[in-house]
Amino acid sequence: MVRVKAVQDGSIAEELGIVPGTELVSVNGRELADFLDWEFLTADDELVIEAKLPDGEEIVYEIERPEGEGMGVELEPPTIRRCANRCEFCFIEGLPKGLRKPLYVRDDDYRLSFAYGNFATLSNLKDRDIARILEYRLSPLYISVHATPWEARKVLLNNPRVPNIVDQLTRLAEGGIQFHCQMVVVPGLNDGAILEESLSDLWNLGDAVISAAVVPVGLTQFSHLYSGESMNPAKARELIAQVDRWSERARKERGETWVFGSDELYLLAGVELPGAEHYGEFAQIENGIGAVTSLRLRVADGLADLPRLDGMRIGVVTGKAMVDLMPELLDQLTEATGAEFTLIPMENSLFGPTITTAGLLVGADIKRALEGRHDLDLALIPAETINEDRIFLDDVAFDELRTTLPMPVHPSYDFVDVLASEEFAVAA
Ligand code: SF4
Repeated sequence: MVRVKAVQDGSIAEELGIVPGTELVSVNGRELADFLDWEFLTADDELVIEAKLPDGEEIVYEIERPEGEGMGVELEPPTIRRCANRCEFCFIEGLPKGLRKPLYVRDDDYRLSFAYGNFATLSNLKDRDIARILEYRLSPLYISVHATPWEARKVLLNNPRVPNIVDQLTRLAEGGIQFHCQMVVVPGLNDGAILEESLSDLWNLGDAVISAAVVPVGLTQFSHLYSGESMNPAKARELIAQVDRWSERARKERGETWVFGSDELYLLAGVELPGAEHYGEFAQIENGIGAVTSLRLRVADGLADLPRLDGMRIGVVTGKAMVDLMPELLDQLTEATGAEFTLIPMENSLFGPTITTAGLLVGADIKRALEGRHDLDLALIPAETINEDRIFLDDVAFDELRTTLPMPVHPSYDFVDVLASEEFAVAA
């Protein structure tokens, strides 16, 4: 059974009398376990839907759905499948205490992997889940592989019952499922020969593995499980060299890069990031693969749309990881607008100095960065630092914080989004 959260105006569901709180029990005789069943089973045009209205009335709808018209139903969020692992490097294990509850949910859910691109390890996959993935053709999936040698993976995931990932991927690949994979590399545990074997196993799965990412382990000052060696620039350069050997082979044999080092790996190694052609369709940009290159592109493409802002003093708050990359972008923005940009790199007060990503800065960091800056006319902060409710990871509300700061503050993904906006152009 799945429960209706909202019904769209003028939709088929509204016409039928489905209201929020209605329980949708079955479609064409098949019981509904979750949103996937609903999405896929209602893809037919002729539907018999069993439902129970909030007042207890049981009802059967027989409908012919006009082709291409959705049902107009939003479902209650699913119960998330929890993770059965205790990875050495788990970021959630490394969160400080006292944050809002949803941040501590360790999801490992193939359904969210398909629907939202969340990475899943598949360690909690049952036979019936595999059958569903194959039946509904849930592809592509985003898979945290980390290592293909079974024993190494058990150690990395701290889970002796973890299934053999090569067997799982092979079975799914034979059913036509494709994957984007990632390997979070912990020096001493899954680098060197283990990484080589892992890349080789993924390569041998052929077209089923669309992309593979190599990401350096990132630890907070609160990580307490970790027993591996620390990541360092020399190790990062070693990993880039290994990734480069594979990507050269992939470009020769398959005409695409296939395996990518994450941006963090290049920044840590002090190695210049590849250009846009390296990333193809930027398949794993949400995973930090090619995000900096994409930012450079968007800035370059947007310069012509920027208004003149001569004399305006603009502060740009960012994480320490971006310190070396930002000046080149800010110079271009200065030239295009005439504004004076000031870079304000901040250390992360919640996760500690080892976490340098701009998107993980918290409200307290933004406050510290900007509260005394009466010399600025405007400030831009990384838009990734706030969620859809405009709340930072430390529960500070952006809209409250901005009223206490001495200048207008805008969340921005690429500077151009704010500076070229109509609202901003009028204000300027
Ligand atoms: S799979 Fe590992 S990293 Fe992911 S939530 Fe579970 S323990 Fe954490």
